[in-house]
Amino acid sequence: MDTIQLNNKVTMPLLGFGVFQITDQELCEQSVLNALNTGYRMIDTAASYGNEEAVGNAINKSGIAREDIFISSKVWIQDAGYEKTMKSFEKTLHNLQTDYVDLYLIHMPYGDYHGSWRAMEDLYRSGRVKAIGVCNFLEDRLVDLILSHEIVPVINQIEMHPFCQQKDLRTVMQQYHIKTMAWAPFAEGNNGIFTNKTLAEIGVKYGKSPAQVILRWFRQNDIITIPKSIRLERIQENFMVDDFALSGEDMIQIEHMDLVESLILEIQNLDEVYRLHKIQFEQ
Ligand code: NAP
Repeated sequence: MDTIQLNNKVTMPLLGFGVFQITDQELCEQSVLNALNTGYRMIDTAASYGNEEAVGNAINKSGIAREDIFISSKVWIQDAGYEKTMKSFEKTLHNLQTDYVDLYLIHMPYGDYHGSWRAMEDLYRSGRVKAIGVCNFLEDRLVDLILSHEIVPVINQIEMHPFCQQKDLRTVMQQYHIKTMAWAPFAEGNNGIFTNKTLAEIGVKYGKSPAQVILRWFRQNDIITIPKSIRLERIQENFMVDDFALSGEDMIQIEHMDLVESLILEIQNLDEVYRLHKIQFEQ
């Protein structure tokens, strides 16, 4: 399995499994088990997904050693701030049934995320978190966070797919050696991505699906990604991206699909800010 080294020398898989919106506990547990049995060794969850416990159960049932699985989780807006982040982290560990998290992320750039970052720096120094990062930080807040603290995030987990390639943001991230972790690699199915003509035509050349072409495109760009599926056949399909390579021309064609806009989360849209601040969850 291809891996990537982060700016603190921690290594992680380039392809993982995401569990957003798998709220049914049994289904989540089964999906994660299917992913682990398929060969995935990285699981991306979050306190706000309400399924950390199901992820922990699946890991226990898999029989795979904890140190062979890379787990990432996130602190939600309502737990922003030093003390609340520390408390939320303890719940996350309890739910996941583990004594450390490989990657801990600030989920949204709202609330007292500076306080959260100080907590995460302390958790990192204590060894209970192996790497710390953020999600959905645009250039201004990302650089402000970096300039205000000692530790530079290892990762910014952002919406990224062929229709939203985040080139400007990624250029800034590269300056600070921050890796891209793409969420919604399939744009959550929006914009006809699974029947897109360009992706389908590229796929036909290699006997691969549009989904596999997208994941291969991420791989060849050294971008970490975490596709989600509740179906075994798709979990397996999404994992089968090691046995072909896109040509330079294919890569350029996909680059030209960029619409330079978000299809899912416009992080600076005030309606989104109000909506996300209102989301409450029981951890
Ligand atoms: P996604 O992975 O882009 O898309 C998932 C959708 O694609 C599901 O409807 C799934 O349906 C379908 N699908 C999966 N594989 C397929 C295939 N091979 N062919 C056809 N359809 C396929 O969306 P996402 O779940 O939003 O993003 C992935 C992960 O990123 C999340 O699970 C989460 O871990 C993370 N995330 C993070 C943030 C953040 O703010 N940090 C935000 C969103 C997501 P089925 O399940 O029915 O197969």
